[in-house]
Amino acid sequence: MEWRCERRICGLHAVVFYFLMEMENEHSVTQQNQRSKYDCLLFDLDDTLYPLNSGLAKATVQNIKDYMLEKLGTEPSKTDELKSLLYSNYGTTVAGLRAVGYDIDYEEYYSFVHGKLPYENLKPDPILRNLLLSLPYRKLIFTNSDKVHTIKALDRLGLEDCFEGIICFDTLNPIHSSTVSDHKDDIEFVGSRSTNLNPKSGVKSSEIFDIIEHFAQPDPSSILPETPIICKPSEHAIELALLLANLNPQRTLFFDDSVRNIQAAKRVGLHTVLVGSSHRVKGADYAIESIHNLKEAVPELREADIKEPVACPGTAKHAVETTVIA
Ligand SMILES: [Mg+2]
Repeated sequence: MEWRCERRICGLHAVVFYFLMEMENEHSVTQQNQRSKYDCLLFDLDDTLYPLNSGLAKATVQNIKDYMLEKLGTEPSKTDELKSLLYSNYGTTVAGLRAVGYDIDYEEYYSFVHGKLPYENLKPDPILRNLLLSLPYRKLIFTNSDKVHTIKALDRLGLEDCFEGIICFDTLNPIHSSTVSDHKDDIEFVGSRSTNLNPKSGVKSSEIFDIIEHFAQPDPSSILPETPIICKPSEHAIELALLLANLNPQRTLFFDDSVRNIQAAKRVGLHTVLVGSSHRVKGADYAIESIHNLKEAVPELREADIKEPVACPGTAKHAVETTVIA
């Protein structure tokens, strides 16, 4: 009788345990269903985290043309067309300049191009800051700009502590190495520049590929030369950024103002938000006029909203100090 009673108690325990397990499983499933679609928000910087009308983009274009004229000696009458062709075919003008045969000192180039930008037009953006801090995801910057400009712009916007890390030109194009390691521990950034590997700007390679002439042909027979620079919208650049930051493309939401960057990211498997236009183009899952509208445009981000800003995993006081990627 005692045995039976014990057995009944054991049986009851088993039933209760089973019931609790079921509840736990159900809870886990519910939790899983409620789990966000994303692990990480990946942001472009220029014209994405601040608006196009800041004047920085316009000044950058002019500075690049001035650099080409003054430092590389390009023909004044052809500089606009040359810049346009290089940018459209290589992602960035500097990538195109390297491809057609110019030797560029990156430090000098970016100092020239960004040094005189009207940074005073970038004001602290507390609305965006609170918005970013309220989102409990990993948050990273992925930009074609160099590190000096990226840090300066984030600082002016008051967003310097909103990101876990920065993936920038310096990250994907470490100057001390001819190839980019696919292991972040192998990459050094700060202070690793070696001018010995990069002759001063203005020194041309023996032959410059004439890209204007190339596209002037009705049926260009030659193949465009490749660039050694890794940058968006190259799918390789995006894949490398994902690898370095340990990101799953299917669980990453990518914000960029460039349609071609958005489309490349979509091909790699990321979820995408085109910023700066409400017109959703092919490849964009969402389109928003301003980065301030990100929660309105992306339902999952509204659901993830919380009342108080949180310190997200990996986000430390200063992104500059804790830059894990660059
Ligand atoms: Mg941009």
